[in-house]
Amino acid sequence: LVRLRARLARSQNSLGKGLLTLLSREHLDEDTWEEIEETLLIADVGVVPTQELVERLRERVKVLGTRTPADLRALLKEELLTLIGTDFDRAVKTESGEDTPGVIMVVGVNGTGKTTTTGKLARVLVADGRSVVLGAADTFRAAAADQLQTWGERVGARTVRGPEGGDPASIAYDAVKEGIAEGADVVLIDTAGRLHTKTGLMDELGKVKRVVEKHGPLDEILLVLDATTGQNGLTQARVFAEVVDITGIVLTKLDGTAKGGIVVAVQRELGVPVKLVGLGEGPDDLAPFEPEAFVDALIG
Ligand code: GDP
Repeated sequence: LVRLRARLARSQNSLGKGLLTLLSREHLDEDTWEEIEETLLIADVGVVPTQELVERLRERVKVLGTRTPADLRALLKEELLTLIGTDFDRAVKTESGEDTPGVIMVVGVNGTGKTTTTGKLARVLVADGRSVVLGAADTFRAAAADQLQTWGERVGARTVRGPEGGDPASIAYDAVKEGIAEGADVVLIDTAGRLHTKTGLMDELGKVKRVVEKHGPLDEILLVLDATTGQNGLTQARVFAEVVDITGIVLTKLDGTAKGGIVVAVQRELGVPVKLVGLGEGPDDLAPFEPEAFVDALIG
């Protein structure tokens, strides 16, 4: 975790440090406030949250007698935390019933890191003592099932797969059936994310969801978003949210961007919390999203 935090800090500190430096200027004139606004927009915080934050900062700085670095840091930290939201339930739910495993569906556009995230999540769960079955329902991308199976072998989870181009819903169904037969704790289902037709996506994900729910409740539908894609990612999020009820967001590739503001923008957009963040390609590079640690990494 320490290593992950360090990595996050390296990628994100231009935003928070930039803000802190600007707020510390001797004269907080209009140009400076504009620069603060720009810094937030460049980091993908989004227009409305940026305006809100700048307004709050202006008000609070006004009533602040002195502007010591410690004062400013505390103030900025508090306001960024308010913006990110500290009262979301960010735990990934895996509530297995007596005879049924907890089921998590992982959705998102291809290339965002869906399969990798599914593998990393399996690893976290297995390390936590849970038995996991993987469902390779991304039958659209040829290598996805192999990739998932490799992850499964690495972490000690069985992978249920079907023929290439097979029916995702029937694979999802089989995976949950296998989970029940094995008495597994959690079934993770990787899905395909082609976006060229919304109806196609809707039909497919809707069907996967329905067959899974035949066995019992679905615990989570996690949407994987690539943090480096900015506004595009938000557009994708909107489409998926229309298709299925997203319960949590996984923001991947935060190691490769300084645009951590997307956390704020996407939560606003969907009204669901960022629960996990991807900070690299390796097996240990998935971390729970902790607002406080994130803001600390931002401010440096
Ligand atoms: P999928 O098509 O959505 O299933 O995407 P993949 O899981 O195959 O991932 C696409 C690429 O992104 C792969 O090269 C992954 O190693 C890489 N990737 C996934 N998550 C992360 C992350 O958090 N950080 C970085 N730097 N790369 C990632």
